[in-house]
Amino acid sequence: MAEKITMQTPIVEMDGDEMTRLMWAQIKEELIAPFVDLKTEYYDLGLPERERTDDGVTMDAARAVEQWGVGVKCATITPNAKRMEEYHLSRMYPSPNGTIRAYLDGTTFRAPILLPGAVPLVSCWKEPITIARHSYGDLYKGTEYRVPGPGTVKLTGNGADKTIFDFKGPGVVMGMYNTDDSIRSFARSCFACALDKGQDLWFSCKDTISQTYDGRFRDIFQEVYDGEYKDRFAGAGITYFYTLIDDAVARCMRSQGGFVWALKNYDGDVMSDMIGAAFGALALMSSVLISPSGRYVYEAAHGTVTRHWYRRQQGEKTSTDPMATIFAWAGALRKRGELDGLADLQAFGDRLEQASLQAIGDGIVTKDMAALTGAETSVDTETFLSAVRARLG
Ligand code: NAP
Ligand code: MG
Repeated sequence: MAEKITMQTPIVEMDGDEMTRLMWAQIKEELIAPFVDLKTEYYDLGLPERERTDDGVTMDAARAVEQWGVGVKCATITPNAKRMEEYHLSRMYPSPNGTIRAYLDGTTFRAPILLPGAVPLVSCWKEPITIARHSYGDLYKGTEYRVPGPGTVKLTGNGADKTIFDFKGPGVVMGMYNTDDSIRSFARSCFACALDKGQDLWFSCKDTISQTYDGRFRDIFQEVYDGEYKDRFAGAGITYFYTLIDDAVARCMRSQGGFVWALKNYDGDVMSDMIGAAFGALALMSSVLISPSGRYVYEAAHGTVTRHWYRRQQGEKTSTDPMATIFAWAGALRKRGELDGLADLQAFGDRLEQASLQAIGDGIVTKDMAALTGAETSVDTETFLSAVRARLG
């Protein structure tokens, strides 16, 4: 057998929970370790270790990503009341994704994995569309008020004194905000993502109607582009394109895909579900968190697949789909290779993805994939992983 690929800088490895934790170990052992002399800095974000460290391990992992630049994360449980009991937790720890995203001030980019033989519902889409949702402020931190009856409602404070509406009867009012800092970080992460993928960046909002609020988003994107990214975009042969959201939706439906679409918080919430449903299934969405300073955390967009995990514990085999987790590892290895100038490590990331897609092209699929490709039979997770292994050479 050929010599293993060597690494220079460690990848920050964040282990997780349940079914995805099991697949994590299988992917490492069967698909990566035989080919790469894997160098990782390991953080166990599984719930028992978060409990043992009072969640300190999550912050340690976030700091390690800041230090080393590239991480790969397994899905983790975000505890609720039921999980508190199940895992005997002393407190309800916050979502690790939320903690890491807040520490890195990053944006999460989600893109579907296109399967050979599966046609997106929108038939002209040939390549994945990546959605960037600004996960700060707006409607999600809005302050709402049910107006009881006639009277004037105003927006006041910090220099403002504006009448919102003279109510003649009952109604509703909402106030929401965003900050220049957050919008600027979001814009930087989006430009970095487009460069990373080598794809055009679209940004759209409703600046014709919301001239001050949405106009501020449009202007900050333009400032960041002109000041920091214009030359790099030209060098990469990609473009930045602003358009009104209505126009973007219409263009998107007629496009071939293959671009990054940046959206405000609510728009991204809604459009990501549409894109996900049109391309396939939740199990086939990949995700990468990118910070404004260019730190990357690759992960699957789905959760720990609890329903399958409980069945596993009863001794049943499950047909759980490991594709998004395989693609997370592939993305991290490729990025690490790129940053360290290791062409063979970078190429291995591609090879890992290709081998998985080849297995699917050869008709070896898990149950959720069969629904998309029309395959008549499906296999369990282990059989699928062996088929990928066989195609890695
Ligand atoms: P989930 O784990 O994504 O699973 C929901 C359902 O989607 C599954 O029951 C399964 O449907 C299908 N599915 C998802 N991934 C699949 C895969 N790889 N292969 C096959 N089917 C897949 O969501 P959840 O059940 O709502 O959440 C479970 C746990 O995950 C929760 O504790 C939650 O906190 C956590 N979570 C973590 C993250 C993260 O770390 N990024 C994200 C979301 C949720 P069928 O059962 O019908 O086959
Ligand atoms: Mg949504």
